[in-house]
Amino acid sequence: MKILVIGSGGREHAFAWKLRQSPHAEHIFCAPGNAGTGEIAENVAIPATDLDGLARFAKENRIDLTVVGPDDPLAAGIIDLFASEKLRAFGPTKAAARIEASKIFAKELMRTQQIPTAEARTFSDSSEALRYCERLKFPVVIKADGLALGKGVIITADVATAQSTIDEMMNQHRFGDAGRRIVIEEFLRGTECSLHALVDGKNHLLLESASDHKRALDGDEGPNTGGMGAFSPANNWNNKLQSQFETEIMQPLLHGLLQEGIKFRGLLYPGLIITSEGPRVLEFNCRFGDPETQALLPRMKSDLLPLLEATIDGTIDKCAIEWDTRAAVTVVLASAGYPDKYETGKSISGLDDAAKLEDVRIFHAGTKRDAGKIKTAGGRVLAVTALGSTIEAARARAYEAVSRIHFENCHYRRDIALSAVAANIDKLP
Ligand code: AMP
Repeated sequence: MKILVIGSGGREHAFAWKLRQSPHAEHIFCAPGNAGTGEIAENVAIPATDLDGLARFAKENRIDLTVVGPDDPLAAGIIDLFASEKLRAFGPTKAAARIEASKIFAKELMRTQQIPTAEARTFSDSSEALRYCERLKFPVVIKADGLALGKGVIITADVATAQSTIDEMMNQHRFGDAGRRIVIEEFLRGTECSLHALVDGKNHLLLESASDHKRALDGDEGPNTGGMGAFSPANNWNNKLQSQFETEIMQPLLHGLLQEGIKFRGLLYPGLIITSEGPRVLEFNCRFGDPETQALLPRMKSDLLPLLEATIDGTIDKCAIEWDTRAAVTVVLASAGYPDKYETGKSISGLDDAAKLEDVRIFHAGTKRDAGKIKTAGGRVLAVTALGSTIEAARARAYEAVSRIHFENCHYRRDIALSAVAANIDKLP
């Protein structure tokens, strides 16, 4: 099969790496890819947002399967476009992708299906939102309705910060159109967990649990980012939570989508927070997580390709996934300043040395090849994953690999998966 992977992050490098191991994969293209995908696949210089260009490329090159990584092309309707051109692609349609692209749509669906989530109100008028804040108990969470690269969620500690956040989102258009409408919701306390499910329209198949670190700095300080690290399995997940998740979240969600006339086909992952009263949904994502994918795929023993095909064909109920029982820890190396302004073009050294370590995989994100050298080209630069018999062992190996890699002003968190090492699993709900 000829496969096209769309996107240029660590998640897409992990897809290309995993799909290349399939005996059915003959040739893999990445659009636009990065320096890492360029080593194992053929990069094609078409941006992930150029839907027409991508469809033309897929047609001309007789691509058998396209796998879409990021949310933007999904929200813009790439799957609908490919379907109209009779091109086979993995991911939800534009209507189904609204579960991620509109937090208000997701909230309304959760309300009608009584899916446990934070109490919330939605606003399209900034003066109403500003007034509403005056009578709230803080902290509260303010969310832009639309897609904002994972940065449109602000936790505010007092009324003044809440009001300036509302003003920035709704009046100063900090996130463009995405902040035209907002959600103001109660702040929930607990630990977070990501559950990925392959959904074929009707049935679903859960992947192993994972956990990511969204804040930029150690100790969960600093602004939210796309993700600074991940580990799998999540240490706060157990069978009881899983059955609660199935009956209280997944089943009503898929039922609710069908009631709306939406057949979701692709990867659906609810971001959860485990509170003292059980799991609550923070958000829905309609594609694989980044960096969760970089922690999950090295643990997946089964071939990914037939799983993606079964999801498209509506036969995921006939599939099972075999997992490596070892744990995975992924540390993201970012350019200093990320998620705000950062510099690019810095030479990266030590990649080969780090890759020599056993059970270590280095996935590229914001990298490019320039005159034979690998240089930084984005906010998140690399995702370094290691497997280990325990989270602790995986963590030690991942940081050993990280210590071998250098670029100017490299920033990474030192505490990825640390809570999972210290936690006593028996004490969790
Ligand atoms: P989201 O994109 O909605 O998942 O939000 C990004 C991050 O913000 C989450 O992973 C949480 O860390 C945090 N967050 C979002 N909503 C809430 C909430 N209601 N209570 C506490 N933290 C939240």
